[in-house]
Amino acid sequence: MTAPGPTAEKVTAQQPPWPDPDRLEEVRHALSGRPPLIPPEEAGELTRRMAGVQRGEAVVLQGGDCAELFADTAPPVVRRKLGQLRELSAEIRTGLGLPVVTMGRIAGQYAKPRSLPYEPLPDGTALPVYRGDAVNGAAADPRARIPDPDRLLTAYDRAAAVLSTMRDEQTAHGAAERIFASHELLLLAYELPLLRAADGGGHASSVHFGWIGERTRDPEGAHIRLAASIRNPVGVKVGPSATPADLVELAQLLNPERLPGRLTFIVRMGADRITWLLPPLVEAVAETGIPVVWLTDPMHGNTIRSGSGHKTRSLRAILDEVAAFHRILRDRRQWPGGLHLEMTPEPVTECLARPEDAGTAAFPRYRSPCDPRLNPEQAAETVHAFTALLRT
Ligand code: PEP
Ligand code: MN
Repeated sequence: MTAPGPTAEKVTAQQPPWPDPDRLEEVRHALSGRPPLIPPEEAGELTRRMAGVQRGEAVVLQGGDCAELFADTAPPVVRRKLGQLRELSAEIRTGLGLPVVTMGRIAGQYAKPRSLPYEPLPDGTALPVYRGDAVNGAAADPRARIPDPDRLLTAYDRAAAVLSTMRDEQTAHGAAERIFASHELLLLAYELPLLRAADGGGHASSVHFGWIGERTRDPEGAHIRLAASIRNPVGVKVGPSATPADLVELAQLLNPERLPGRLTFIVRMGADRITWLLPPLVEAVAETGIPVVWLTDPMHGNTIRSGSGHKTRSLRAILDEVAAFHRILRDRRQWPGGLHLEMTPEPVTECLARPEDAGTAAFPRYRSPCDPRLNPEQAAETVHAFTALLRT
């Protein structure tokens, strides 16, 4: 066993403190015997479609909850999410006359990286943080927050149920409307047992497209090693601390065969910082000649705290970051490949119109157990703005 300490921490960042190693081992063993949720051919098909995005012949819409909930996997709920994705994709497709590659943060987005292991409470005490339904419960109760390895099996079962609804919907809407499943490749106790052998490498059988988060993209860490070992199309979140050398190294590690569509960088800098942080990154990657898709995640660099203590984001900052992303990529003759959004078809009040509203805003329908999502109108406005920019 590896001794605990800074090195072990760095290699396997953001893993929950599982309380029962024996049960965890049994669960891992059970997962390793489960059938693949996604066949490798479907992941290969997505790589081919992403190659079209890399060539500037198609656009990506990737969106959904910050954290999917086990309670939200009933077919009517899933169908509403798919309906929102399909509607927004159609708007881009008609607006641009280009194919749209549509991915949900869906059918497995059950694990969250967290900045702090504890969440402070108003009474001065603290709770272990919620890490996603695959790990613990969101309820503000210390017992709910104990990581439970059996939740990994539930995550598999719920993902299978959601995928089954997605397949039924796809049959109803035709092959061109296929919506792909994506989530963050975070929980090694889930992803590693679900690895399968495939032609030319491993296959992450939990997902079509998996991404590595901003907090786990250490080139020497276990997550990048996992991403390098699979043939699925993969993404990496790129935040303010990323250097040009980091991205060059990641591009070399994750796309050594220079396969178009294999690798996507998902930029989440913040509207205030993107203008000076992104240009050197784009230039350094372009210089390597390694093909990558560039997406904008205008959500995660623009999170603020409201006066009431809610995590929120303003539509104004989101639209500013989208516009800056578009300009920076275009000025460097690169294709602004698409949008990565946290959104919901439900009429929530989680994001605000303007940052200056944060001080006094009330959030009567704040439902997210994690990050604030765009409601349907806000998501439509963001997609509309992106489409309008690409038309210019
Ligand atoms: C997320 O996508 O929910 C997330 C945690 O993103 P990031 O890794 O970019 O912070
Ligand atoms: Mn999030």
